[in-house]
Amino acid sequence: MTAILAIHGGAGTIGRETMTAEMEAAHHAGLRRALHAGHVVLAKGGNALDAVTQAVMALEDDPLFNAGRGAVYTSAGRQEMDAAIMEGQAREAGAVAGILGPRHPILAARAVLESEHVMLQGRGAEDFCRDHGVEFAPAAHFHTDRRWDALQTELARRAAAAADLRSDADRHGTVGAVACDADGNLAAATSTGGMTAKLPGRIGDCPIFGAGTWADNATCAVSCTGHGESFIRYAAAHEIASRMRYLGESLEQASATVVRELVDIGGNGGLIAVDAKGNFALPFNSTGMYRGVIGSDGVARSAIWGEAMLSA
Ligand code: ASP
Repeated sequence: MTAILAIHGGAGTIGRETMTAEMEAAHHAGLRRALHAGHVVLAKGGNALDAVTQAVMALEDDPLFNAGRGAVYTSAGRQEMDAAIMEGQAREAGAVAGILGPRHPILAARAVLESEHVMLQGRGAEDFCRDHGVEFAPAAHFHTDRRWDALQTELARRAAAAADLRSDADRHGTVGAVACDADGNLAAATSTGGMTAKLPGRIGDCPIFGAGTWADNATCAVSCTGHGESFIRYAAAHEIASRMRYLGESLEQASATVVRELVDIGGNGGLIAVDAKGNFALPFNSTGMYRGVIGSDGVARSAIWGEAMLSA
């Protein structure tokens, strides 16, 4: 069995025309750091759950991506983060929604997975994290001027009732990882700040199992990014597992079909998926999707738009 890890840094990419060479290189570097963080775990014979945890933690630390440090703001100027993690052997799952405080929201989700609960939100989730030794960071750790400015621009646009000309990157983003370990066990992890200027209390697809995050050894592990409401209404991640289970479709067929069908309901975005044979698929229907993959050769490959994967 060949272990494999795939990641995404969100379908909210900067348009190719406006991306500077520095920004492009920085995004590739961030993706590769996360790929290596997860790969180290798998290369040492570690499990898929630990690999996706490490990969997502690396992306949450990177202010370029909309999760943890660098998360977007609600319309009330607060950051509210969602995260979820699931493993495919026993279908253990943990999610948090609308939290601010844990340095790595994915570790908050992991603490929930290790408890008797599956999903906690808001104050109760934050108190649970404090009681379970999850590390917190001050509010300043999560702030970036870029996300704050994106909120101000959006609030001004709404006040003027002007057309929405923002790039996907200013609207949303998410990070995620999926892995298959040497034992054929699958895991998926997703973490996000959600959508810029979202309503306080709004929860996206990321922490909803079967929508933005799913793992089942019999079919696949999936992590989604894009317009969360559409992914929830379409049960996108579980839909891929269902197509594989009941129609006998391959991972590639099932995930491509779901991403194509999402277009009809305004579901702009994409996803990453792996199966227990080590196959992977990274389809998207948006301008781009920050994404990468690393197999047992340890070569990190990443891409942003429709170009071929670059390796380094
Ligand atoms: N899916 C995320 C949400 O709706 C946003 C994104 O991935 O771009 O919260």
